[in-house]
Amino acid sequence: PDIIDLAKRRNVDAIHPGYGFLSENADFARACEENGITFIGPPSDVLGKMGDKLSAKQIAIDCGVPVVPGCKEPLKSGEEALEKAISFGFPVILKAAAGGGGRGMRLCNAPEEVIPAFELVKSEAKKAFGNDDIFIEKYLVEPKHIEVQILADKYGNVRHLGERDCSLQRRNQKVLEESPSPIMTEDLRRRMGEAAVRAAKACGYANAGTVEFLVDKDLNFYFMEMNARIQVEHPVTEMVTGVDLVKAQINIAAGLPLQYKQEDIKLSGHVIECRINAENPLLDFRPSPGRIKSLFIPGGPGIRVDTAVYQGYEIPPYYDSMIGKLIVHGKNREEAIAKMTWALSEFIVDGVATNVDFQLKLIRRPEFLEGNYDNGFLNRTDILADERSKE
Ligand code: ADP
Repeated sequence: PDIIDLAKRRNVDAIHPGYGFLSENADFARACEENGITFIGPPSDVLGKMGDKLSAKQIAIDCGVPVVPGCKEPLKSGEEALEKAISFGFPVILKAAAGGGGRGMRLCNAPEEVIPAFELVKSEAKKAFGNDDIFIEKYLVEPKHIEVQILADKYGNVRHLGERDCSLQRRNQKVLEESPSPIMTEDLRRRMGEAAVRAAKACGYANAGTVEFLVDKDLNFYFMEMNARIQVEHPVTEMVTGVDLVKAQINIAAGLPLQYKQEDIKLSGHVIECRINAENPLLDFRPSPGRIKSLFIPGGPGIRVDTAVYQGYEIPPYYDSMIGKLIVHGKNREEAIAKMTWALSEFIVDGVATNVDFQLKLIRRPEFLEGNYDNGFLNRTDILADERSKE
């Protein structure tokens, strides 16, 4: 209410919600709409539909996009969850329909885990999201997380802008993203792109959005959810396509038709993004808030750093620990890795612990160099084993 009130007093035309708390908040988008302020994002009813993972899956099913096998209605009890789990076969994952940011999920490997997990996710979901609808789906073993960026205008034109491989995750949170995906083929990109466009059209989408898929070893893909906002990792797509996504968002919100035909969108070279977090990888990635005593940010052709921190900045303990993103563009994957290696080596953040060295070790791993990794890689692999054994 304070933001709307201020916006009205200052005759604000439009509000860009960023990618934070308000970006997928249907109530906030509606409040903007009702007060004659343009919300730079999808219409509030689309946010409502896509913000709920179950209704988003139903939209995908209805338009013929493959989804991970799972239940279609919210679960009524732990017993029902167990019954479904047995019918899908283990492992399964329980998810809060309103969940996000890697929270409100529990993996179950065996029948005795299901009922306790159901109770846990339910109470977590109620506290964190104010909605305790829970559903269950089959847990795919060692898939990859590959997502497709789309842009849609208000006139039903939808384009896709290629993929981002976000399989390097810790506890379901993304750590490093790249485009193209090392496993992508022209044919798979076209089919995933078309599926993403179909899902967006089916829900009357407008503005920038991301359709997230899981991809198995046989390159089958399954719709997981749609993020109805610009995402943290959007610079990867901006640098690989040359499209300024935030500018496109503003143009779309202003009522302009999309300026791109599908064949105008070309991926050029290779882009890698490392998330820079104030956390201590040697202490189980514990957040490390505090004052930044000195800071050196690398630069050069094809090197982009998105951050708001500076020397003397006090990192507050209240939010997540990401303090910046380092994105590099190379003419191919090898060059992008070489540039990322230099840029990370030059990055200095003094005063707080960061994951800069962790990222450097990660991109030097043979599995990463070969482009051979899945969503479970960082959970199975101790990137800092050398460092630990030195202590
Ligand atoms: P959030 O909204 O919190 O980002 P997602 O539904 O996008 O949650 O899932 C986050 C991550 O959890 C995925 O990238 C993937 O690693 C893992 N995950 C979610 N569902 C499944 C599934 N059915 N099988 C395997 N992994 C899954």
